[in-house]
Amino acid sequence: MPALKWGLIGASDIASTRVIGAIRASGGDVVGVCSGSGARARELATSHGLPHATTDLDELLGWDIDAVYVSSTNALHFEQACRALKAGKHVLCEKPLALSVDDATAMVDLAGQQGLVLAANHHLPGSPLHAKVRELVNAGTIGTVLSAKIAHAVLLPERLRGWRLGQSTPGSGVILDITCHDASVLNPLLGTPRAVSAVAVQQADWNAGGQEDSAMTVIEYQRPGQRPVLAQTHDSFTVGYAKTSLEVHGTEGTIQVVDAMTQETEGQLVLTTASGSQTIDVDCSEDLYVIGLRAFVSAVEGTGVPAASGRDGLMALKVALAAQESAHSGRTVHIN
Ligand code: NDP
Repeated sequence: MPALKWGLIGASDIASTRVIGAIRASGGDVVGVCSGSGARARELATSHGLPHATTDLDELLGWDIDAVYVSSTNALHFEQACRALKAGKHVLCEKPLALSVDDATAMVDLAGQQGLVLAANHHLPGSPLHAKVRELVNAGTIGTVLSAKIAHAVLLPERLRGWRLGQSTPGSGVILDITCHDASVLNPLLGTPRAVSAVAVQQADWNAGGQEDSAMTVIEYQRPGQRPVLAQTHDSFTVGYAKTSLEVHGTEGTIQVVDAMTQETEGQLVLTTASGSQTIDVDCSEDLYVIGLRAFVSAVEGTGVPAASGRDGLMALKVALAAQESAHSGRTVHIN
């Protein structure tokens, strides 16, 4: 199959720092970018050698492209992704897919009706470390799973302290930004999310926008015929010196992954059972975003599936929105 030709919707940091390189590494061509600002579009196009730049989404959709990558601010994803799907383009959409379950469901349904690939750019489910954790759990290595814990508390880089922190900006806040990623890891590992309780606060002195920058969440998962599983997450923009991690505890063992929740592939996976602790070697040589792009290309070619499908993105959003609702209402939120 010839190289996929891509259009970028959003002159974003993540497009510039990660995804343009990953598209090229997966064999694709980036044809151009659409931004809300002509200057930002031209700047991104110039700095990455893209032939076209526009502020008109219809113009981008009229270019000779097969797929779009949507990395605008969160509130714009739904409308832009749907317009691209209606124009016959495959879509790789940043998380969260939308700001409501109804919108994300409509997006997933539209992709199905159009016969197009829709994937969420969750970079963690495709990580070889997380794939190994799922393999160990599914093989019964730690017995029956009881609980899991994610530490995903980081320091938000200064350059990103804009719309994410705006209290009145739709789609802002730590839960849609980070808890959403945690759910993309926990959902395929633990089963169906059923109930979510969360507390979220604003901590940072530099958080002028006033939006919640730290949250702790508990999620109950169920699998048919098995006992319920509890998962706990700590997500923050305010913690400068912690390592991220994933722990999964079972009746016969524990899996711990340090550096599990970063944008880099490397991490250390330790399995502890009655026989003792052992480090499990995992090949972490490939960039996480390149892994995601290669999986997307294979889905378009019909030879594989996305690292996180549109439906996976929808399920991650359900958990994040339930956490947000719980944090605001002070009640446990049940997911149907
Ligand atoms: P950015 O703030 O860099 O970009 C988001 C949008 O903000 C851009 O599309 C751009 O709009 C606008 N923008 C960028 N710079 C400026 C500026 N100087 N002044 C005014 N507006 C500006 O955000 P991120 O790249 O961090 O995030 C983009 C999306 O990607 C989000 O949905 C986020 O959730 C997701 N993301 C995903 C990650 C992952 O690992 N999967 C990691 C980081 C982010 P315009 O296009 O109109 O120019």
